[in-house]
Amino acid sequence: SQQPPIMPNATVPCQYRTGKTLGSGTYAIVKEAIHIKTGKYYACKVINKKLMEGREHMVRNEIAVLKRISSGNPNVVTLHDYFETSHNLYLCFDLCTGGELFDRICAKGNYYEADAASLVRTILTAVAYIHKGGIVHRDLKPENLLFRTPAEDADIMIADFGLSRIMEEEKLSLLTEICGTPGYMAPEIFLKTGHSKPVDVWAMGVVTYFLLAGYTPFDRDTPKLEMEAIIAGDYKFEPEEYWANVSDTARDFVRACLTIDPERRPTAAECLDHKWLASNTPHFVSTP
Ligand code: ADP
Ligand code: MG
Repeated sequence: SQQPPIMPNATVPCQYRTGKTLGSGTYAIVKEAIHIKTGKYYACKVINKKLMEGREHMVRNEIAVLKRISSGNPNVVTLHDYFETSHNLYLCFDLCTGGELFDRICAKGNYYEADAASLVRTILTAVAYIHKGGIVHRDLKPENLLFRTPAEDADIMIADFGLSRIMEEEKLSLLTEICGTPGYMAPEIFLKTGHSKPVDVWAMGVVTYFLLAGYTPFDRDTPKLEMEAIIAGDYKFEPEEYWANVSDTARDFVRACLTIDPERRPTAAECLDHKWLASNTPHFVSTP
């Protein structure tokens, strides 16, 4: 029998004109879109409906939650509108024009510790917020953390959350087949022993490590070796020259987030109480 449309009351696509492609990820293409009536710009995520065959009801639920939750925190991209055609699903988000955190880290090499702490505090506050609303991001990484504007001090925004639960199976295989790196995924994802809120805290440990050092902790020659390193929690604060100016408090924060056992890993809210983020004293900063 014919499946009902995912969003029967959704707005028609011709209210928008799409422009240049902003980026693409593991299961979607994101395009700039202008709302014709208002002239406002959005980022429109185009998802091929084939990827969610049989899970339409889950997508419908998740989008409703996303729309409600996403407008409640200043560092989460707001879902403004959605509609579908026979082939695609379109989600219209806040447009972030400042690029991905990934590209800024690559351009800078790494962040000063105080700047890294400030970014991590902001991101974790938003993560704690979505967790409280019952959403797990599941794909936190510097490609999904966007700056609102090109300004140096622009707000950091969490993008690409919520739907990953539904896309998960595709993602797991796509990640290793196409993207090649499972770098931010928690051990329990590979062990298939559950992947709830703690996976986001683990990912924040990897993001923090990346911010401080300019490279990720579990980088290995193959995805398989990388996965084994993640499961074993096998990483070091090395080479020493990259870590010489990083405080013990920062290392301790990373260590806490990278607790192998998800039950013993601190929650996002607990991470915010860690000395590295909670203290008001300025962190020691020096030029490498
Ligand atoms: P996927 O689920 O396929 O990874 P994302 O939502 O992460 O899709 O989007 C893919 C890329 O598109 C992002 O890495 C980013 O470069 C760009 N992008 C996503 N959302 C926005 C946005 N709101 N504003 C600007 N660019 C965006
Ligand atoms: Mg993404």
